[in-house]
Amino acid sequence: MKAYFIGGGIGSLAGAAFLVRDAGVAGSNITIYEALPLFGGSLDGAQRPDGSYSLRGGRMLTTDHYECTWDLLSSIPSLEHPGQTVRDETVAFNLRNKAHSQARLVDRNRFKMDVSTMGFSMHDRMELVRLTEASEEELSNSRITDWLSPPFFQTNFWYMWQTTFAFQPWHSAVELKRYLHRFMNEFPRIETLGGVKRTVYNQYDAIVRPLTSWLEKQGVQFVKNTRVTDMEIAEDNGKVSVKRLFLDQNGKNTGIAVGDDLVFFQNGSMADASSFGSMTSPAPHLTKADSQGWALWEKIAAGRPEFGNPAPFNRSIPESYWLSFTVTCRDHTFFDQMEAFSGNAAGTGGLVTFKDSNWLMSIVLYHQPHFVGQPKDVQVFWGYALHPDRVGDFVAKPMSECGGAEILDELCGHLNFDRTVFDNTTCIPCRMPYITSMFMPRSRSDRPLPVPENSANLAFVSQFVEIPDDVVFTVEYSVRAAQMAVYKLLKIERPIPPITRHDKSISVLIDTVEKAFV
Ligand SMILES: Cc1cc2nc3c(=O)[nH]c(=O)nc-3n(C[C@H](O)[C@H](O)[C@H](O)COP(=O)(O)OP(=O)(O)OC[C@H]3O[C@@H](n4cnc5c(N)ncnc54)[C@H](O)[C@@H]3O)c2cc1C
Repeated sequence: MKAYFIGGGIGSLAGAAFLVRDAGVAGSNITIYEALPLFGGSLDGAQRPDGSYSLRGGRMLTTDHYECTWDLLSSIPSLEHPGQTVRDETVAFNLRNKAHSQARLVDRNRFKMDVSTMGFSMHDRMELVRLTEASEEELSNSRITDWLSPPFFQTNFWYMWQTTFAFQPWHSAVELKRYLHRFMNEFPRIETLGGVKRTVYNQYDAIVRPLTSWLEKQGVQFVKNTRVTDMEIAEDNGKVSVKRLFLDQNGKNTGIAVGDDLVFFQNGSMADASSFGSMTSPAPHLTKADSQGWALWEKIAAGRPEFGNPAPFNRSIPESYWLSFTVTCRDHTFFDQMEAFSGNAAGTGGLVTFKDSNWLMSIVLYHQPHFVGQPKDVQVFWGYALHPDRVGDFVAKPMSECGGAEILDELCGHLNFDRTVFDNTTCIPCRMPYITSMFMPRSRSDRPLPVPENSANLAFVSQFVEIPDDVVFTVEYSVRAAQMAVYKLLKIERPIPPITRHDKSISVLIDTVEKAFV
């Protein structure tokens, strides 16, 4: 039996690992096709030719959730600590570097706000309970604004929850409800981000490198610069099966006969059509027409409702895009001043959000070094903004029209730092048109099951599948989808780690109610 993965994100890498570890499939029978020159998908992180670094994103994980991710990483050997797994080294790293934010929200006067109170009125509390208790059928494809009134979006809670998880008021009410349940135990400590765990380095170095290295040792074949453009799908006795894949390898078209083998498809990417700018130029505005990133899902879902419906997710870039930026400081001036201001050593604070900033900008100073091989005098931080379409407070332009130098101007304005702190610094903007596409309002049937009921050999492994109770925009969601798909197609008996129901814990419920009334 052979297995073909379409897409080289963490979902596929995890799926390949589960096939080897839990199904005993020989690595040499597994092939992963990736359209881009690098594997890891959204989990990127790279040094640029000028020595600066770029990341599309930085991930917060937790050890109270992410059950399938830790199950996976507990089998992957660390590259730096012989005898340890990636899980071991990550847990040890977090014991040394505990998150306890002292400057979660900063206001327009540069006050570190008191965020021990959530700022709810009784009306806010009632609305929140109504949303949390509504069924997914009731919530259907409604928006958060259909359930919560304007004052709610001014509460400390909303600013913290929104920027921790990247929600917009116009996003799906179902997804917010799922987050409120899944991460209920984070609510009482949301102002310190005390539950957040980080990886030792950026997630390309900390997760993708050890995982791909292990898979390579098992013989898994990695084929880059190869886009799967179509599938031949046969229908027989109510079952659909993929018979052939069509590939575009650097402009050369080829085909692979699939027969009775297995196909795992990453049907959508939040990082699709993303682009980088420079210190002087904004990131180019690309869309799915440039990337062709959604084309295969759109093609195979047409006329097959069981394969879902990509349109609700990718139809409105103004509602799904934002920008991030990676800053490489070649001396310690900015980090020293920021650590003194925030009261947090790098790696212990998490997101600092400039709550009144037009762009709704946040930054996070990671533990250093954040990249393998990063020189000692270099420090790297990351930031993002949820409203890049708005004109800045200190730069008279929307962030999406700004180069890195202008983004640093805006940041300095909010911090009231002298601009010279960034004299020796490179800032790389990154535009992601579909970054919150998975949060767009959608109906239940818009996402296929990891293995659709009528599928003989095709599985979907991505953020755009339906997994009851779990939350998208997480590494965990793709890893869980992969584990469910592999276990179902190969009829593996080993139990999949269940979702931990913190929302059913009496002590969590008591803490939550208490916090909501502070
Ligand atoms: C800025 C940012 C911040 C984030 N923050 C967090 C966080 O704090 N915590 C957290 O848990 N998660 C976070 N995430 C989310 C997490 O990174 C993603 O959910 C996860 O990496 C998605 O993995 P994936 O494998 O499903 O998809 P992707 O990483 O999107 O990979 C899919 C891959 O498939 C390829 N592909 C698609 N179609 C084809 C085709 N037809 N042929 C060939 N290749 C194809 C694409 O090129 C892509 O490389 C963040 C993501 C970003 C971008």
